[in-house]
Amino acid sequence: MVRVYQGIGPVDAYMVRDWLDRNGIHAWMHGQHLMGACGELPISWPSVWVATDDEPRARAALTTYEQPQLVHPDWLCRCGETNGPAFGACWSCGAEPR
Ligand SMILES: [Zn+2]
Repeated sequence: MVRVYQGIGPVDAYMVRDWLDRNGIHAWMHGQHLMGACGELPISWPSVWVATDDEPRARAALTTYEQPQLVHPDWLCRCGETNGPAFGACWSCGAEPR
């Protein structure tokens, strides 16, 4: 078993697990019960684990999961121009975002 995702909140690991499920990769949650442990601190958020054989596929699936999360309202070109999110290349100099 390999951990492919460490949750940063109470629900994001569940969403990652669902995403992996939808990509045909069985994933397990760990640590979701720590909240109920009396007096045990610090709290750690759930993490997502997959079988070692599934790790490459899981990591590939996670790259497509994370992309929609990246919200870049605007991006700054190396030439100094600010471009809207619809621009795949700088409107001024034609360079692509880094
Ligand atoms: Zn530019």
